[in-house]
Amino acid sequence: MLPVDLRSDTVTLPTPAMRAAMAAAPVGDDVFGEDPSVNALEERLAAMFGHAAGLFCASGTMANQIAIRAHTKPGDEVICDEGAHIYRFEGGGTMANSGCSVKLLHGDRGRFKAEQVAEAVNDPGNPHFPVSRLVVVENTANRGGGSIWNLEEVRRIRAMCTDHRLAIHLDGARIFNAMAVDGRTPAQWGAPFDSLSVCLSKGLGAPVGSVLLGGKSFIAEARRVRKRLGGGMRQAGMLAAAGLYALDHHVAGLSADHQRALHLSLALKALPFTEEVLPVETNIVVTRLAAGHPVKEFMAQLRRSGILVAEFGPNLVRMVTHLGIDDDAVHRTVQALEQIGNEK
Ligand SMILES: *Cc1c(COP(=O)(O)O)cnc(C)c1O
Repeated sequence: MLPVDLRSDTVTLPTPAMRAAMAAAPVGDDVFGEDPSVNALEERLAAMFGHAAGLFCASGTMANQIAIRAHTKPGDEVICDEGAHIYRFEGGGTMANSGCSVKLLHGDRGRFKAEQVAEAVNDPGNPHFPVSRLVVVENTANRGGGSIWNLEEVRRIRAMCTDHRLAIHLDGARIFNAMAVDGRTPAQWGAPFDSLSVCLSKGLGAPVGSVLLGGKSFIAEARRVRKRLGGGMRQAGMLAAAGLYALDHHVAGLSADHQRALHLSLALKALPFTEEVLPVETNIVVTRLAAGHPVKEFMAQLRRSGILVAEFGPNLVRMVTHLGIDDDAVHRTVQALEQIGNEK
């Protein structure tokens, strides 16, 4: 029996229909701007989110890193939550690629307030301080357990950024998960941001790719940065075609992923050795194990039942539902959890 792989929503495999769409994709040289499938994907997402242009990138990390590079100069400061992907999980890229320092905010499961941003902005007239240049919001917030931002609060942060002449970027790796719950439109989520990255290879199930969205001159600069980083791909339309297919066919299924995550969280809460399960808002379940219950042992127990989960920090375990997790997979996981609970 295949394992139930709850480590990440990046583990999805392209379906036969997606592979057929990829094989049939019209392609050209995208560095020359001549790949019709890449152009179609960039234009479609830009139009959806109300931005002028898009840029197909090899990964979400690349899309975020290009955005940070295009918004900042070396020595500037980026403001984000302490759990932000751009800070924790991009190999130190914000510092290495852009030469920026980072000011971390202590948010509520990844979500900070406009007042916190206002307090974090340095006085631009004081030469001691780095120049505050960019705010990054992550929706949904991964380390917050897939928590969803309040759009009104984001609009307040946007206003704060305008007052202080800061740019604001959305790490929208899971923005479609957020929209499946809050019912907002892509245009509404695109509006407060100068740029956003949208991931196709997580919940949407494409094998590769994220798209960076923004204004015309911003994306022109981003295109140069992408080339400089070696991210200018040639006949990338076969990958873009998977993204187009995903937008047509895999958005509607996200709500079912969220229901399944909720189901898993109930089984986790029932275990005698879980100290806390973060509120489940989307497709991520983060569980804190009580002291004396090592994460590695719990993971090994699950692995013996064919269930794979991710270590997410000391005492923390993460499970993520996605296209590859059906009701049967949830059932198997719940059974394995019940068995572990009974053995204790
Ligand atoms: C996964 C993820 C990314 C980008 O990941 P890649 O693996 O580089 O595509 C960016 N931000 C968040 C919040 C993520 O979860």
